[in-house]
Amino acid sequence: MKTKKKYLTPILFFAVFEAVAVTLWLTKDNLFYLFNFSYIGFAVSLGVFLFIRKNKHARRITQLLVGSYMLIYLGLICGENMQIEGFWYYLFTGVFEAATIHYAVAKIFGPLLFGRGWCGYACWTAMILDFLPYKTPQTPGKKIGWIRYITFAASLIFAASLFLAKVGHLERIMFWAFIIGNAAYYGVGITLAFLFKDNRAFCKYICPVTVFLKPMSYFSLIRIKCDTEKCISCGKCRKVCPMDVDVTDNSRKRKNGTECILCMECVKNCPKDAL
Ligand code: SF4
Ligand code: SF4
Ligand code: SF4
Repeated sequence: MKTKKKYLTPILFFAVFEAVAVTLWLTKDNLFYLFNFSYIGFAVSLGVFLFIRKNKHARRITQLLVGSYMLIYLGLICGENMQIEGFWYYLFTGVFEAATIHYAVAKIFGPLLFGRGWCGYACWTAMILDFLPYKTPQTPGKKIGWIRYITFAASLIFAASLFLAKVGHLERIMFWAFIIGNAAYYGVGITLAFLFKDNRAFCKYICPVTVFLKPMSYFSLIRIKCDTEKCISCGKCRKVCPMDVDVTDNSRKRKNGTECILCMECVKNCPKDAL
């Protein structure tokens, strides 16, 4: 009975995604939404299922399934710019399609519920960065997080100036912007990872999407909490955390709290099951 109960969570996840899939399919009369959200629901619930089965690759499997689908199928094959400049572009054109829905669900309103789950389980940039050797940072954090505001502003200025200058062939330009933007993200991300000996340096200092993700995830309903009665302050959770989060502090103001990507490394490594 208990075994059956624990598998309710992946089923529930799948049901939620399926509800979104069917609702969008019927309201927007577009079969794409049924396929898209069913697939993502399958990938997420498979990850949850594997996590329950204590499979150590659970998170990575979901991340690779979702990340590569978005990068290769939506981005390269369907030609949808899923980067932040694509979000601005579709917002300016008033098109409420894949990129705008994706941003609304995964990066703006979704984080109120599941924090930065996107960063842990779906992002195609981090999907590659997580293959690099510095899974836990080998050097102390740097105070250069302000760079994210520059990249954020640059993406907005880029998309706005294309509109203001009434440039033609916008769809084509956005497609190439997606290719060049991704290549630049991977290039900078990999370089920084080796420079700072930290796979997630790009996420911590450069990524413009964190301008949305961090404030919204501050209010996240789903958070890792610490049972202070069980905790023996061994510091292992902090040591294995790729994002330098002080997860033993239960307040929302915990150090680097809005950096948590819900990767569960702290939970898996806590010797007292306090998380
Ligand atoms: S911070 Fe940016 S690059 Fe890193 S995982 Fe999140 S969205 Fe992806
Ligand atoms: S790993 Fe567990 S016991 Fe150790 S400090 Fe973290 S929460 Fe406490
Ligand atoms: S190790 Fe724990 S605190 Fe750190 S990012 Fe992963 S889930 Fe969050």
